[in-house]
Amino acid sequence: MKRFHIMLYATFLLTVISGLTTNHLANDQTISGVSTTDKVVALTIDDGPHYKVTPQILTILKEKQVRATFFVLGENVEHCPQIFAQEVADGHEIGTHTYSHKTLSKLSPQKLSEEFDKAEKVIRTTAPKPTLFRPPGGFYNSQVLALAHQKGYQVVLWSVDPQDWNRPPTQEVIDKVLKEVKPGSIILLHDGQYPLPTPQALGVIIDRLRERGYEFVTVSELLQHREMLPIFNMGRKWLSRF
Ligand SMILES: [Zn+2]
Repeated sequence: MKRFHIMLYATFLLTVISGLTTNHLANDQTISGVSTTDKVVALTIDDGPHYKVTPQILTILKEKQVRATFFVLGENVEHCPQIFAQEVADGHEIGTHTYSHKTLSKLSPQKLSEEFDKAEKVIRTTAPKPTLFRPPGGFYNSQVLALAHQKGYQVVLWSVDPQDWNRPPTQEVIDKVLKEVKPGSIILLHDGQYPLPTPQALGVIIDRLRERGYEFVTVSELLQHREMLPIFNMGRKWLSRF
């Protein structure tokens, strides 16, 4: 009877550990946020640069002394090279959002590779090689993940999405972010079309979150705040034995 209990306990423990290990591996493939007790969040801004919206956003970020992470489109960098240069000069982090915002999971291997390479080429005229990649629309498959990792990118998603691209009222964007944010969140915003409620919402979001004690960091900085719980280390050790 005692042996039965031990076996039951061992089975339970293995199930728990393998579940955690699976989650851990899934978290290693893409990053939607960081597990931390530090009050840090990352603002990420996709689809630009845009000749009208991006300068408004850059002005607010400069005034509030906040650095964000811009996931730019290669073709928009080509259209607005000076605004892109301003993003870089202001100290924001640059990630790639591919060259032309195609649904990557539908592309041939060659076209997929081109979307990365063309964007990287134009970004590198002004900025260092980006190490962060966000798939357009958040759509990806194993082929996209494999190629992104092979090309030296970490795949960044998000954990707070106020859907600003859909042009809800400004207050809705503010409320959604303030309601959903927590330590380690990655907030998704956009600057690729006009008009957007984003510039009006951004300053209020920054002020309210600062009042709550939050600090704004780039995505790369956010990753430095990742805290591993002891149980996750246990899962890793278990995995490394095989
Ligand atoms: Zn996008």
